[in-house]
Amino acid sequence: MKVGPAFVRTVRHFFPDFNTWLDKVPDPRCQERITYGPRFLLWYGLLLFVGKLGSRRELDFKYREAGTCVLDNLNRLAQTDQQTIPCNDTLDDYLAKVHAAEAPVHPIANVRTKTIHRLIRMRVLDEARVQGRLVVGVDGSGYLVFRWEHCRHCLTQKCGDRILYCHKVLEAKILGPAQTVLSLASEFIDNQDLADSPANTGEQQRKQDCELKASRRLLQSVRAAFPQLLLCLSLDALYACGAGFQLGKDFRVSLVIVFKEGSIPTLWQEFQTLLTLCPANRLEERENGWRHEYRWVDELHYVDSDRRAWKLKAIQYQGEGPKGEKSHWAWLVSYDLVVSKATVARIVWGAGRPRWWEENQGFNVQKNSGLNLEHAYSEKEHFGVYYLLLQIAHVLLQLLEKGSLLRELARSAGKRSAVALLGSLKNIADCLVESLRNWVWPDEAFGAAGKIQIRLDSS
Ligand SMILES: [Zn+2]
Repeated sequence: MKVGPAFVRTVRHFFPDFNTWLDKVPDPRCQERITYGPRFLLWYGLLLFVGKLGSRRELDFKYREAGTCVLDNLNRLAQTDQQTIPCNDTLDDYLAKVHAAEAPVHPIANVRTKTIHRLIRMRVLDEARVQGRLVVGVDGSGYLVFRWEHCRHCLTQKCGDRILYCHKVLEAKILGPAQTVLSLASEFIDNQDLADSPANTGEQQRKQDCELKASRRLLQSVRAAFPQLLLCLSLDALYACGAGFQLGKDFRVSLVIVFKEGSIPTLWQEFQTLLTLCPANRLEERENGWRHEYRWVDELHYVDSDRRAWKLKAIQYQGEGPKGEKSHWAWLVSYDLVVSKATVARIVWGAGRPRWWEENQGFNVQKNSGLNLEHAYSEKEHFGVYYLLLQIAHVLLQLLEKGSLLRELARSAGKRSAVALLGSLKNIADCLVESLRNWVWPDEAFGAAGKIQIRLDSS
């Protein structure tokens, strides 16, 4: 049951000012006779996801049951003195009001920004930098689907003779050390994006339009929150076009974009021709039975359909495994990145390939591990608040899962790893809920943050 205190220590270590950040979220009075402070309610909302309860109703069953220690632990986490645990509708009312509070930036998104700022300042993410830049994957995902018109912003999708109403989201996630995937900014894609695209273009083209438009808004909010941060975007082939390259220029970010033959056929042809003309731009390495071959072109020229001229670089990777497995990739790389024998492998493994983490460790984990991303935690218009709380909770959980505290806990119990101790990493949330319910967490867990060191496990 030591997972609970390990969670508290993790939060205290990385984010000693977390409660002050929560205090900045507006405090619109709730209708309830008993009013709860925002800090308490926000922690309660975060614990919905930290405990992976899966639905808002579960809060009433898991955290409100009489005779448990939840109130005690929650009060100490939030440094509050509440006398009761709210019912889940009280939380929902409060979050609806937070959502409605007019602010240029969503107040919960501000809390997320502060957590990321702090990790950057602590240099926790430095190990994952490529040529000094933090690598950020940008990727879209389906999010909520309803059978009825849920709000005026729903995207519609035909499914047989029925119409589905859905919401999509575009995420910028830092691809950090120890395969952490940390939400940096989120942008919802809605019917406004579709409305602006010409209806006579194909569905694929409109989808691309939608995402490219949303990506500009996404990067605007990234730049508003992190104006000077050195960034390298890791993007899929959708961005291998003039509009994608323009993102790099407008938002001062480097680019590593998946390059497929079909993306820009003429440029692909030129790339292949130039590869044969510069045989010196080649590196071969062997590792664990794999043979890695990297080849690259230093200068590719391209004029897009808007007559903008671009100068790019491109990398081709071919790998062959011990059992004859084949792996074949190519990327377009913005001209500001240095591609050489010394840097090419790092670009491939540090910026190109990790894009898959975003899908695997990011969206899949959030959809399938109990975080239940595709569940409508509220069917009202403020569902996005839950989305943001989920993102913050997932950051906290990853720091716990990948941090050295759990490893040390396992070692002291004579086990090799946290997984050996807890059965699986998925069990961490269950253990946390157990611990929250059944054990008053000891004072020392809430003690001075400076006394402990937590490292992320990259092995
Ligand atoms: Zn809707």
